[in-house]
Amino acid sequence: MIFDNSLATSLVQLGVDRDPQTGAISTPIHPSATFRHPALGQSTGYDYTRSGNPTRDTLEEGLASLEGGHRACAFSSGMAALTTLLLHFSAGDHVIVSEDLYGGTYRVLEQVFGKLGLSASYVDTSQLEAIGAAIIDKTKAVLVETPGNPLLGVADIKSIATLCRRHSLLFIVDNTFLTPVLQRPLELGADVVVHSGTKYLSGHNDLCSGVLVARDPELGERLYFLQNSTGAVLPPQDCWLLIRSLKTLALRMERHCQNALTVAHWLQQHPDVTHVYYPGLKDHPGHALSQQQARGFGGMVSFRLKSPSLARQVLEKVTLISFAESLGGVESLITLPAVQTHADIPESERLRLGVCDSLLRLSVGIENVNDIIADLEQALA
Ligand SMILES: *Cc1c(COP(=O)(O)O)cnc(C)c1O
Repeated sequence: MIFDNSLATSLVQLGVDRDPQTGAISTPIHPSATFRHPALGQSTGYDYTRSGNPTRDTLEEGLASLEGGHRACAFSSGMAALTTLLLHFSAGDHVIVSEDLYGGTYRVLEQVFGKLGLSASYVDTSQLEAIGAAIIDKTKAVLVETPGNPLLGVADIKSIATLCRRHSLLFIVDNTFLTPVLQRPLELGADVVVHSGTKYLSGHNDLCSGVLVARDPELGERLYFLQNSTGAVLPPQDCWLLIRSLKTLALRMERHCQNALTVAHWLQQHPDVTHVYYPGLKDHPGHALSQQQARGFGGMVSFRLKSPSLARQVLEKVTLISFAESLGGVESLITLPAVQTHADIPESERLRLGVCDSLLRLSVGIENVNDIIADLEQALA
């Protein structure tokens, strides 16, 4: 696996050198909600924190450059970022979305934007033809999670970008699972990248945040306009914490990938495990594609057990690994998607996708991998 060292350097150096007056290495936090005008009709560049804040600017400039985009906006959660992005569309518009996706994205589309007249079709975005077949006159965008959640299906970003360009559709990629360290969708032709910064970007299960990054200036301006108009900005203290967290992102992702692959191999040989979903496994349908478009396979591993009761037993017996929602932190977490993260997806739909009651999703942390495996072993016994 090849990790981009210059990206590691930019991550570490994010925000350094921003305060010539003091020379502070750690980026200053500017909690000020408002800023004094030098004179009538003049501005320091900052007027009011919803519209712009120096600490948030440092974070957003860093995020834009990491994803190779023109502009980034930092939000108070991933859902705030997605909601703001969806406000770009109008009543009567239609979007095509990965069916293997975060439950909250499904919920906001169905129960919030559906009422406002934005309709969505859910398709297997690992099949290019399925996306093509879902395009109708009013389709305006394709929103893809890759790898998917929780089954880790892989979508071909480059081919979907070509399809979207041909039909003048906005192409959005939720890059939460891989981060720009492992996958850079804008360079592969996507228009916008979405993140739940709550996951790998912040990485310590201690911060809710979200990010949008636009490839071109015009769309960047539009996203900034929508954010400034509706207001779900990330507060300055949280911007600082996210900057601090990003410094170790490359190092963390490297260990997440190593640990996840080791755990996936171990699970594969366990007699009570009937299927392991991890793009790093050679028998995963998206393995070759992942190798082409990503620098690593990430830290998420899902697996199916012999029975739902065994899945419940694992949740009750794990000690090092926490039974908790969320993912992407240094601490290993395990969850039952059918009951937790994907509870808002109708049962028949869930089962059709394979999100059954014996499927567990493991966010492999950066602990010593032998300890993670030992915990799984005793929980399965
Ligand atoms: C968690 C998550 C979200 C939502 O982000 P929040 O920060 O929880 O609001 C969106 N997409 C994916 C892939 C996620 O994992």
